[in-house]
Amino acid sequence: MADYQAPLRDMRFVLHEVLQVSKLWAQLPALAEVVDEETANAILEEAGKITAGVIAPLNRASDEEGCVWADGVVTTPAGFVEAYQAFADGGWVGVGGNAQFGGMGMPKVISAQVEEMVNSSSLSFGLYPMLTAGACLSINAHASEELKQAYLPNMYAGVWSGSMCLTEPHAGTDLGIIRTKAEPQADGSYKLTGTKIFITGGEHDLTENIIHLVLAKLPDAPAGPKGISLFLVPKVMVNADGSLGERNALSCGSIEHKMGIKASSTCVMNFDGATGYIIDAPNRGLAAMFTMMNYERLGVGIQGLATGERSYQSAIDYARERIQSRAPGGAVAKDKVADPIIVHPDVRRMLLTMKAFNEGGRAFSSYVAVQLDTAKYSEDPTTRKRAEELVALLTPVAKAFLTDLGLETTIHGQQVFGGHGYVREWGQEQLVRDCRITQIYEGTNGIQALDLVGRKVVGSGGAFSRHFTDEIRAFASAADAPAEFSEPLLAAVAILETQTTALLERARDNPREIGAASVEYLHLFGYTAYAYMWALMAKAALGKDAQEDFYTSKLGTARFYFARLLPRIHSLSASVSAGSDSLYLLDAEQF
Ligand SMILES: Cc1cc2nc3c(=O)[nH]c(=O)nc-3n(C[C@H](O)[C@H](O)[C@H](O)COP(=O)(O)OP(=O)(O)OC[C@H]3O[C@@H](n4cnc5c(N)ncnc54)[C@H](O)[C@@H]3O)c2cc1C
Repeated sequence: MADYQAPLRDMRFVLHEVLQVSKLWAQLPALAEVVDEETANAILEEAGKITAGVIAPLNRASDEEGCVWADGVVTTPAGFVEAYQAFADGGWVGVGGNAQFGGMGMPKVISAQVEEMVNSSSLSFGLYPMLTAGACLSINAHASEELKQAYLPNMYAGVWSGSMCLTEPHAGTDLGIIRTKAEPQADGSYKLTGTKIFITGGEHDLTENIIHLVLAKLPDAPAGPKGISLFLVPKVMVNADGSLGERNALSCGSIEHKMGIKASSTCVMNFDGATGYIIDAPNRGLAAMFTMMNYERLGVGIQGLATGERSYQSAIDYARERIQSRAPGGAVAKDKVADPIIVHPDVRRMLLTMKAFNEGGRAFSSYVAVQLDTAKYSEDPTTRKRAEELVALLTPVAKAFLTDLGLETTIHGQQVFGGHGYVREWGQEQLVRDCRITQIYEGTNGIQALDLVGRKVVGSGGAFSRHFTDEIRAFASAADAPAEFSEPLLAAVAILETQTTALLERARDNPREIGAASVEYLHLFGYTAYAYMWALMAKAALGKDAQEDFYTSKLGTARFYFARLLPRIHSLSASVSAGSDSLYLLDAEQF
């Protein structure tokens, strides 16, 4: 596999030329103090060095070696401990963390681009800091001051890591039926008992302590999701002076053997009366966990993009070098026995699809991160509320669409390599295997689609999606909007709005309509959102072609997106409007 290079030029383009984040930062006092264009670029450049130079070289061997479990101890593959140490020493675990407790305090739009680089280098490696950063978010937003002081500094410093313990053998999507119990103790702590499965980073050798965030039920809890509480449960107890004490009563029973992300430990965790501390009020656990989930879900979407980017970088090198057959219009490389495969229309179709999805996904995930920053830091309540509603709307799209396209992208990358994409040597098959989990964990993509349509679109009576479509309309109708891109963008928005109105109408009489339309609706939404991103990028690139090939390439890819990928909305739209009837023609026994 070709060496990974962080796509810094494109990242800077998205940040400064498309989203113009410096203007936003200057308006938000909390960010104006810590970040400007120069700082942002310096951080991204450093992140590019450690990810490409230290983490990326471990990706292939760590997939071969995997994690090993023996008597409750999990050993990560060779090189991970040292790489993690270097990563932690650089302050990268706490890049977006609260500066009051030792985090770097960077905006999400910066940490999101850092996450892309880490996950392109190694998805398995990226999960350890990602879970830690997510756990820190919940602690920072919902835990007592005492817990924050005791845990956040070491977690941001990467000395301790975090995990998220939701899933149980009988309870995955439906967390309302979890069985893990939390018994209140006289000293205000709780004793947790139960088994969690599939816990990423539940046990490993990268850090001296692991801080588990565990969902459990109090003895008198109401049934269902309203009876869930969240607890902080350390692997090793922390003494009053901050030193480490006894092992807590929890252990890793085994690890899973998986299709991909083999260097990420996926653990069965047994809690046997383990001591824990409540985060937020009793029975408010799911709400507290959702703080973490909004960030994690964007992070998982970015994992899809990250694998797609790594796959593209390899595929493009290969397509320039591999020679097979002659170009349709006659020999191009006359000195060779055949032409490089990049001359063939179908290979170009695959490469351009990959490029359009990656660059569209980078712009979209950065756009969502900007909304997260606005929701967190704006001092104007109306602006904050709008941004919060946009985050609520766009988070399931970012998680599911970026990962669905991530898989399509890695499969195109594999296909560009022909048979060499199927064998292990070139690394493309690993990217396909690694990317596949991103569609499943952190709420399956089917559940993300239900969330989008049920909670966000129907639940708000269409109000949340109007924020987004109004913004697109304002952009595309402005006098300086490039008609070549704004006209098809407006047409796509019209289709999305027609389908939204019809779906709101149908969902009133028939609850099955939401689930029947949701996946295709999410994709229709996603392709329209990417069309907005591509129109924004095209506008930023227009007129600059002569300055740098980068802009010519950007405009060519924008034209490809509008000509070849956006038309997928017509088929999606037909499926959305088909309704639920055809899904219920068979009884369960007739399948
Ligand atoms: C490698 C890996 C790492 C993971 N890491 C973690 C972790 O760190 N922490 C953690 O707590 N969990 C983790 N998970 C668990 C993961 O989040 C769950 O597997 C996932 O949420 C799905 O739950 P499930 O496997 O029980 O599937 P189920 O909930 O049984 O779902 C099975 C199928 O039914 C569908 N379905 C279920 N309910 C509905 C519905 N209402 N409407 C429509 N379709 C529905 C689903 O979309 C899916 O296709 C991990 C899993 C894996 C494999």
